[in-house]
Amino acid sequence: MKLVFGAVAASFFVAVAILLLSWTTYFAQLNSTAYDFTLRLAGPISPMSPTLIVAIDESSLDRIGAWPWSRDKLARLIERVETGNPRAIAVDVLLDEKKSEEEDNALAQSIASAPAIVLATRIASVNGVDRWRRPNVRFVQNHVRLGHVHADPDFDGISRRIFSAKISEAQAVRAFAREALRAAGLPEKGAFEENIGSADIIRPQTVNIRFVGDNASFRHVPAWKVLEGAVEPAAFKDQIVLIGSTAEGIDLDQWFTPFSANGQKMSGVEIHANAIETLYTGRAIAEISDVLVLVGLWTLVVLFWWVDRRFEGRRFYATAVLTGPVLVALSWLLMKYYSVWVPFPPFLAAIVLVLPGLEVGKLVRMNRDLDGKIGRLTVAALHERLASGGHRPPLQLETRQRILSELPHCSEREGWLTALDAYERESSGRDKNRKHLFGTRRHNSRWKLDAVDFFSEELMRFLSFNNAILASIEDVIIVSNAAGHVVYQNPASKRLEGYCEDPPFAPDYFTSLLDRRPFVPLFARVLSQMEPVTSEFVPGRNGRNFYNVTLSPIARAGVVLSMHDATAQHELNQAKSDMVSLVSHELRTPLTSIRGYSDMLLKYNLVQEKGKEFLTTIIDESSRLNQLIQSFLDIAYIESGRQKMTKSEFEIGPVFKDMVSILGPAAAEKEIAIEMPDMETTRVLADRLLLYQALTNLVTNAIKYSPPRTTVRIGVANGSGRVRFQIADQGCGIPADEAAKIFEKFYRRANKETREQGGFGLGLAFVKEVATRHGGDVLVESTVGEGSVFTLWIPN
Ligand code: ADP
Repeated sequence: MKLVFGAVAASFFVAVAILLLSWTTYFAQLNSTAYDFTLRLAGPISPMSPTLIVAIDESSLDRIGAWPWSRDKLARLIERVETGNPRAIAVDVLLDEKKSEEEDNALAQSIASAPAIVLATRIASVNGVDRWRRPNVRFVQNHVRLGHVHADPDFDGISRRIFSAKISEAQAVRAFAREALRAAGLPEKGAFEENIGSADIIRPQTVNIRFVGDNASFRHVPAWKVLEGAVEPAAFKDQIVLIGSTAEGIDLDQWFTPFSANGQKMSGVEIHANAIETLYTGRAIAEISDVLVLVGLWTLVVLFWWVDRRFEGRRFYATAVLTGPVLVALSWLLMKYYSVWVPFPPFLAAIVLVLPGLEVGKLVRMNRDLDGKIGRLTVAALHERLASGGHRPPLQLETRQRILSELPHCSEREGWLTALDAYERESSGRDKNRKHLFGTRRHNSRWKLDAVDFFSEELMRFLSFNNAILASIEDVIIVSNAAGHVVYQNPASKRLEGYCEDPPFAPDYFTSLLDRRPFVPLFARVLSQMEPVTSEFVPGRNGRNFYNVTLSPIARAGVVLSMHDATAQHELNQAKSDMVSLVSHELRTPLTSIRGYSDMLLKYNLVQEKGKEFLTTIIDESSRLNQLIQSFLDIAYIESGRQKMTKSEFEIGPVFKDMVSILGPAAAEKEIAIEMPDMETTRVLADRLLLYQALTNLVTNAIKYSPPRTTVRIGVANGSGRVRFQIADQGCGIPADEAAKIFEKFYRRANKETREQGGFGLGLAFVKEVATRHGGDVLVESTVGEGSVFTLWIPN
């Protein structure tokens, strides 16, 4: 709204400026030329008034004699015309001088014989005083009308208008043409005077003549023909007969008119004929007021502004340029059919000025906007330099030193050094550019273009860097926008079976790539809850590959599908699962038989004394083997995923109690005290059996690897979203470098305490597996010779 208001206000000022410009002399000339052009374009028309010119032309001068003629010739002319009974006779000859008595008498008589006659008068300056040059008093008889014959050409010498009346010596005289119409008893169209009471108030006004064409548009009769009786008097019947000279050189009464494009002047008498025609037909050309011009200009400028905003570019230029001919055509139509003059040059000026004006305005605005944007980017660029520039060189130096010291001479070392050189060269080049660009204070247009180049290069670099990263990723990455259009697929996705370059709907595409599970609900969930969803080992389209698939949101703008090929892991899991079956059936079954038969042999005394000893060993070893198989199966079961976790919420106190009652005898044997918090009411959400087994393993180890008469402390802590179980002993401890290894399968330390104890190195691996399955972990802190603290935590 503010913008529109500003534009309308600015347009007004532009319109006013153009209007003021159009008042300058140069523009007035332009306007006049345009006026003449339009009038000529409107074309000649045939006269409608009953006007006839008795022309004192060249041929008459040839036959009758050179000008001035004796007044009796003029008298004879008037008499001859009068015999034809014209409506009026108008004599466009100044009769102010006194001639011989005889001549003047003859003329006075002929004037007296014409009842409707108009004589010419004009204002002349005599010794600096304006006076009427009236006809000789003898001619100004009562019935004689006087009309002023001023042609009043414009400043460019072209006659376009007359004054309806002229005033001098306190006497107003109507125009010659008007008086001729009045004498003929014909109405003039147009209100030139006010009638107040009995007096006519004459207010001189300009009357723009609607010229009907160039010379000889009106009927002409040469004066000599009239004098010699070669013209039928009937020709003058009911006509307004204008008598005047058309020959060049007489009284210098020749003028340029809008139709004088070929340089031909028009005689005064013919101009009066045109004036009579204009007044008779009411075709005086009306001019539109300056206020209207202003409003028109204003509208045009606002219109240009709007079109430019709406259809910037070619359509705007086409509209603006076409406006010119349209305006000229409009002006022509109004002139031709309504005798109205719309000055189009100011409007053309508006086109010529506003068109580049709007462009310049846009350039200025763009420039200002560009300054702001570059300013912001510059701040960001400088900030980046401050943040990273300081650290870069020492880091590069350090890298170089490490390459040189740690790598032997080899092609890899050279390769890395070459890459580092290239990187250094490129980054120092960029730094130099940056310094050069932001070190100068003069921010001229060249600088701005350089800055834009710099930033676009940085952007391209950034983009290609990101693209290279995405391209180097082995995982499949497919990005969809919220509308389900796939907007990006990394090169890895091209290797997928079912890859499609431009799939119509992303969720359907995902479905087709994977095991045909419906993706629409998942897609909706991820977008609305803004949380990623992961599924493991989803079979691909070909059924051979398995993927860990994650659907993650990008704000609310879209979704990223990432597919990690987990076929190998899936195969391993499968193998583990197969092995669990193998061990549990194929090993356990014969072992049970060995154990059973050995027991029977012993029980029923079926072997001799020496054999009994062997049998006991067989039984011991097979139960050890059974234990090993059990521990192995425990852990293999959960690893293979066969053992499903069944979580429930329960209090931990009773679990500890059960455990202590089972382990009590073993502890008592070594006089080890087990300290446990009373009345432990902490509740946990876990698989009760697995957690029990894991904690039992930890407490068993604490008893196993502690010397007699020590204490094992069990603790529980709840906070920060975790439940922590701590088993602290005062045993042999574990050195720091082995702290991580003890959680590996079959890892046993090679110290004396461990050797003295039975075990397979699977207990802690089991604890670790249980902890991770619950989303938690197990850690150890230990000091050799003082004891260890094992912490198992799971989320609460
Ligand atoms: P196992 O006890 O059957 O050998 P574990 O996986 O339970 O197997 O333990 C792995 C190894 O970690 C043990 O062999 C032992 O050396 C060490 N260890 C476990 N618990 C303790 C402890 N509380 N104190 C000292 N060493 C321990």
